[in-house]
Amino acid sequence: MSVATVYNNLKLLADLGLIEEMNVGDVATHFDFALQPHYHVICRNCGKIVDFSYDKLTDVEQVAAAKTGFLVDGHHLEVYGLCPECQVKLGKVPADR
Ligand SMILES: [Zn+2]
Repeated sequence: MSVATVYNNLKLLADLGLIEEMNVGDVATHFDFALQPHYHVICRNCGKIVDFSYDKLTDVEQVAAAKTGFLVDGHHLEVYGLCPECQVKLGKVPADR
């Protein structure tokens, strides 16, 4: 299967709302399964995106609704930093191997 075919299939799933297409700065398009609420931590150096989940953040929607009167139906969070590899590469931590 070619990359274009994979991309087109992902695009179709995104159009159907089954996955979420994200554009993060100038980093290549990143597709996500929208089934589970989860968040991204993005490396400022290499652009790597790693997913993590944090259940407590659903409270944010309730707080937002309560404080603003909005009918809240979602939220989006991105966390930035340096991935473990780039920390080593940039000398932020001593290499341990
Ligand atoms: Zn990195």
